[in-house]
Amino acid sequence: MHDLFDGIAHFQHSVFPEKSELFARLTTAHTPGTLFIGCSDARVVPELITSSEPGELFVIRTAGNLVPAYRPDADGVAASIEYAVAVLGVARIVVCGHSQCGAMTALAEGRDLTAAPLVASWLRHADAARTAAANGDVAQLIRHNVRTQLAHLATHPAVARRRAAGDLSLHGWVFDIGSGRVEELAAPAIVQLAG
Ligand SMILES: [Zn+2]
Repeated sequence: MHDLFDGIAHFQHSVFPEKSELFARLTTAHTPGTLFIGCSDARVVPELITSSEPGELFVIRTAGNLVPAYRPDADGVAASIEYAVAVLGVARIVVCGHSQCGAMTALAEGRDLTAAPLVASWLRHADAARTAAANGDVAQLIRHNVRTQLAHLATHPAVARRRAAGDLSLHGWVFDIGSGRVEELAAPAIVQLAG
C-alpha cells in the first residue's frame, strides 16, 4: 500500500516548492470556476483527468456520483452544492460518471446489498436511471444515471436561480478508466431532463 507519509514528504519537498506562489495566492482567494460532482471511486481523480490546478475545482464525490433531489432538510451534498453555486459563484457544474462503477454495476446486476444497507438505501437516488436503462446494461445505466443526477441537481433552488439567470451551465460526462477518454453527453438530453 502507498505510504501516505512518504507521499506528504514528497509533496513538501518536490511539489509544493514549485507551486508555492500559487498556494500563496490561494491563501486569500477561493474562486473555483467549476463544481465537479464525481464518484468516490479511487480511480476517478477530477484534478488529474481535467489537468486542473489547486483552486480550480470545487469537488463533491459520492458513491455513484449521486445527487439527491432537493429536500428542505439539508445534507452535506445539498449544502456543498448551495455553497458552490450561491456563495462561490461557480460558472458550471459537471456531473461525471465512469466506466466500471461499482455502484452502477451493483444496480444493473441487481446484486445482493443486505450486507451494505446504507449503500442500498443511497442507491435509490438512481431509481429513475434504473427504470430508463435496459436491464443489466451497465454502460447504459451509467449514462442514464448522469442525466438523472443532472435532473436532481436542477431541483436545488440555488441551481434553479442561477440557471434562470442564464449564468450557470450543467454538463454530463462519462470517464472511461481503460482509455482515459471523457465522453460529454449530448446537451439536449440534459436540458430535456433537467429543465
Ligand atoms: Zn463509481
